[in-house]
Amino acid sequence: MIEHNHKAYTAQKKAVIKEFEEHFGLAPFWLVAAPSRVNLIGEHIDYCDGFVLPLAINRYVMIAAAPNGTSQANLLSTLFPDEPATVPLDEPPEAGEPYWANYIRGVFDGFREKGFWPLPGFDALVHSTIPLGAGLSSSAAIEVAAATVVEGLLGIDINPKNKARLCQRAEHKFAGVPCGIMDQFASIFAEKDHLTLIDCRSEEVQSIPFADDSVEIIIADTQVQHELSDGSYSNRRKQTEIALSILGKKSWREVSMEELEAAKNEMSDVVFRRARHVVSEIDRTQKAAMALARGKTHEVGELMAASHRSLRDDFEVSCRELDIMVDAAWAIGQEGGVLGSRMTGGGFGGSTVTIARADKAEAVMDEMSRRYKEETGIEPHIFATRAVDGVRLEEL
Ligand code: ADP
Ligand code: MG
Repeated sequence: MIEHNHKAYTAQKKAVIKEFEEHFGLAPFWLVAAPSRVNLIGEHIDYCDGFVLPLAINRYVMIAAAPNGTSQANLLSTLFPDEPATVPLDEPPEAGEPYWANYIRGVFDGFREKGFWPLPGFDALVHSTIPLGAGLSSSAAIEVAAATVVEGLLGIDINPKNKARLCQRAEHKFAGVPCGIMDQFASIFAEKDHLTLIDCRSEEVQSIPFADDSVEIIIADTQVQHELSDGSYSNRRKQTEIALSILGKKSWREVSMEELEAAKNEMSDVVFRRARHVVSEIDRTQKAAMALARGKTHEVGELMAASHRSLRDDFEVSCRELDIMVDAAWAIGQEGGVLGSRMTGGGFGGSTVTIARADKAEAVMDEMSRRYKEETGIEPHIFATRAVDGVRLEEL
């Protein structure tokens, strides 16, 4: 059986405090931990008024911070030790070098836009256990962590939905990624032992109990990222917009599969398939949330499989490595302890999410790893997680 304890969290916290002290020569004042997330189902529909069903996972961006009495932020990330950043807090932030700091500059700019300007100067050390570009949204975690540090600095709590939107805006404007709201919402609203059902049209958030000890959530990072991902994301988003305008609807929630089928000849095959993914995935996500709310975890497997096929064939955002990893889990099957498996996140590489029986989880992870390595020659990074709490700020 897989043991879930708090050791890694505590060790990371100690490490980030120590690194802050070594680098800045004083003790930090605040410690913020913002979790990564994995989406169980509801992919590429957050920007289509759909539903998403993420959980926060046991990987974190942590930031240790303290006021420095100046008018600038001194930022250091242990992932980019040779690229410290100094950001003035009394003039409008602009994207620049180092690139990684843009996510934080964007957050500062969000506060400026809300009238919180200039900000008081501070020092911050960023430390993360989230693999970058693995579809686990390290970008949202760093934004949410930074926004929470600024709240600490100002002694305020902004409305959590506004905070999520502020972080999303940072990603749009300062990283050039037109992401939906899922990742930031998940990192903020997640609750331990719960899934977070987000209605991306109304932005309503609902926690669904998910404390079933008989299953494990397994995340398998394929360790590949394909370069085309950036342009392809906005391209998919555009295609869904084209489809919606051909359908003459304001929202995907008003589109039934029958209506889409009826309009098939009015759109190109590609646009039709993109639309079919959106309509079917919205339906699958609602069904999965209902099944899980009733404790029927085993009913989710077929929905996850259909989601993967739809992302692979209709939305075309999977890739060879993701398919191999998912096929490996499917091949292990129910008898081997796999309840469901699919790609997760934006695609073109990144990770898969698998629900496995707890008593077989370790064997499932070993077998997925073995099969994946055999077919790709790549050593994957596979780990199990429970649903953890969203962002936390601690005064030290
Ligand atoms: P994902 O969100 O799937 O991990 P993205 O490409 O959206 O991938 O975001 C990754 C980028 O976010 C990194 O290249 C880096 O610029 C920034 N980032 C994330 N975590 C950190 C960190 N701990 N320190 C510095 N930059 C980070
Ligand atoms: Mg991201």
